This record gives sequence, structure tokens and C-alpha cells, in this order.
Amino acid sequence: MTVRTVVVVGGSTAGATVLRDLRARGYEGRLTLVDPERGTNRPPLSKAVLADAGHEATVRMDHSSLDVEHVQASATRLDHEARTVIASDGSEHRFDALVVATGSRARRIAEAGQTGEIVLRTVEDARHLRERIADASSAIVVGGGFLGLEVATAAAKAGLAVTVVDVDPPLQRLLGEHLAASICERAAALGIAFRRSGAALVGGPVRGVRLDDGEEIMADAVVSCVGDEPATDWLRDSGLELEQGVVIDDHARTNLADVYAAGDAAVVRVGDTVVRGPFWANAVTQGRVAAASVLGLPVDAPVVDHYFWTEIAGLPLKVVGPLPLEGEPRVLEDAGEGTGLLAWGSSAVVAYGIRRSVPRLRAVLRELSERGAG
Ligand SMILES: Cc1cc2nc3c(=O)[nH]c(=O)nc-3n(C[C@H](O)[C@H](O)[C@H](O)COP(=O)(O)OP(=O)(O)OC[C@H]3O[C@@H](n4cnc5c(N)ncnc54)[C@H](O)[C@@H]3O)c2cc1C
Repeated sequence: MTVRTVVVVGGSTAGATVLRDLRARGYEGRLTLVDPERGTNRPPLSKAVLADAGHEATVRMDHSSLDVEHVQASATRLDHEARTVIASDGSEHRFDALVVATGSRARRIAEAGQTGEIVLRTVEDARHLRERIADASSAIVVGGGFLGLEVATAAAKAGLAVTVVDVDPPLQRLLGEHLAASICERAAALGIAFRRSGAALVGGPVRGVRLDDGEEIMADAVVSCVGDEPATDWLRDSGLELEQGVVIDDHARTNLADVYAAGDAAVVRVGDTVVRGPFWANAVTQGRVAAASVLGLPVDAPVVDHYFWTEIAGLPLKVVGPLPLEGEPRVLEDAGEGTGLLAWGSSAVVAYGIRRSVPRLRAVLRELSERGAG
């Protein structure tokens, strides 16, 4: 079938990549974007934007050169039989091909009716958190993942006394023991304290947390950084296979004909299981794969891109290779105090505290695997 109308739902990193790639690959048909917003590039929200309001304007997506009809509303339903997306403003959008790129939203832990929980997912969240940090002298961050430690870094740099609470050792689940320990040591040197415990929010509005042993600690700002949930509730009765997200194959295809998905809203079927990688590089590569598949072109990118970066306690970290990083690394280049170029066998290379381009890191990894580094 010739594709004449493509509907993309969600216009942030994954959706914007689909729109751009479709046009770049020569698609001249109708292109409709359904999203209440223009789309956001999220990684700067917990870095530059938290530190400086001036960066807010740079994170908004711009689709103006792509001849896109932008429906500023939320998709509320997919009628697959009618090949139609229904939006919250009552409009209906027929498609030959649909790409679901609705991403995810911050997971919350407040009790029903408990107000004042702070999360970080949107530009508005980042603005609110920046203003709270400016007025506060102490902060608690619940969740010691990369987002929690980026937020803790911003708060500590602004002079706040910061405590990170997590039931697990911070960062270990993704980055393994070696890097997690090294990064946490640097975070501690910035004045960030760590408590190992579960945490329940206390107060309404929230003013602190209750630890597992009953101790309550209070702070001027309490931020939940406890993961994200795919924004797929609008697809509940659509017939799409949903399992922590829309299940896709290596062509970004779903179980429904002519429906594709990409980014944080998607999970990739690998054998009997599904893999979720809610990172920027996956949103981009899955957007590219979806665009090629929509047009029936060969897929020239992997549906999972093992690249991830963060910046904690003032040091950049780039990982090329699958997470988690397990075991001890080999030091390929020593830049002092634990920083440098590190390799985990021939499966992952990390630039920690040093600047290295991603293509260079990929080249190092290729070389290691050709040499069969164990
Ligand atoms: C603060 C923060 C910092 C991050 N830092 C890093 C980092 O350093 N490195 C890294 O690799 N990753 C990072 N990430 C993760 C990365 O930003 C995400 O993986 C990426 O944003 C996913 O893009 P997406 O387009 O799939 O989803 P999203 O960015 O969530 O976008 C989804 C879009 O869909 C729209 N939408 C949602 N529901 C509907 C609906 N029903 N109808 C219509 N539109 C809808 C939304 O308005 C939004 O525009 C960070 C994430 C956050 C929140």
C-alpha cells in the first residue's frame, strides 16, 4: 500500500526523529503530529536548565520546517479497525501508518490526596524545581538513579544540604559497583549525604520522608526521582500488545498492522522477554527505525542503541555498550582519581570525567572486540 498519511503521536525526541527522518527519506505525503505540546528534549532539564533559566528556551522542539500539521491535543483512543486516532479536542485522524511516541511520565509515590510531591519530567517541573532550590537550604532526593544524582548535584552546587535516600546502593543497578562507588565518593565530596532505606513521603504538602526504621527527616524541598511509567493508558483497549510499554520488534513494528512505536513508550521484544531502555539514544534510533519501516525501506539502524550519558558531581560519563556494567573494568587511559577511559571486557567502553566523542568510543569498542579483549 502507498503510504499517503502518517500520524505521529508524541513530538519529543522519538516523535521528532520520526518526523525529520520521514521527510529526509523523501516522504512527501501528509504528516500529522498529535501532541498537546511542541515536544521537549529532556536531558538538559536536569542539568543546564536546573542551573540556569536561560536554557529553558533551547529544549523545545521545532518542527516548523517539516510541513507538519500539528494537532495540539492529547490522543485519547486508537481505533485500529478504522485506522483512526481520536484526540482530546474531538478531532479524528485517519492514517495509513501510525507511530506511537508518547514517551513516559514521572512515577510518583505520594499517597492519594497528598500534595506537594516534586518530580522532574517536563519543562514546567524543571522550572518549579529550580525555583524551589533557589528558596531552599535543604533537599531530600528519593531515588539514587542517574536522575536523582543529577538533581542532587544541582541542589548541592546551589549550596543546599542534600540527602539522597535509596533502598539500593545508588547507581549500582545500571553502572555496577566500580563506577557507582567512584561517582558516589565524588558526590559525597560535594556534600551529598546518602541514606540506605525505603522512603515514604510525609506531610501534606510534602515536607520530608519516613525511613524504614521510622525515623523522619525533613527538608525544604523533597524530590521523587523514582523512575518513569510509559504514557500508554490511551492505548488500553486498542488491541496493541502492552507490556511495560508498547511491544515492538527490530523493525519498530507492533502486533497491529501499520502501527509502529518508538522511544520511552516502547519496549523491545527479545526472545521470550521485553527490554526497556528509557534513554535518549534509544528514542532516536527507534525513531529512525520506525521511519524506515513506515516507508517500507530497509532498516539500517539497530532498534536498541547501547549508548547512555549522564553528568553527576561535575563529571561527564559516557557509556557505549549494554548496561548494567558488571565486574571490574580495565583502565585503558588513566586521567587520575578514577577518571579516564575504562573497558568492561570487549562489551562496554566508558569515558568518565574525560571528553570523548561517541564515534571514538564506538571505534575503541570495535577494536577491543576485534582483538577479542576478555
Ligand atoms: C530530566 C531528564 C533527564 C534525562 N537525562 C538523560 C541523559 O542524560 N541521558 C539519556 O540517555 N537519557 C536521559 N533522559 C531520558 C530521555 O530524555 C528519554 O529517554 C527521552 O526523552 C524519550 O523520548 P520520547 O520522545 O520517547 O518520550 P518523551 O520525551 O516522554 O516525549 C513524549 C511526548 O509525547 C507527548 N504525549 C504524551 N502522551 C500523549 C498523548 N496521549 N497524546 C499526544 N501526545 C502525548 C508528550 O507531550 C511528549 O511530547 C532524561 C530524562 C529526563 C526526564
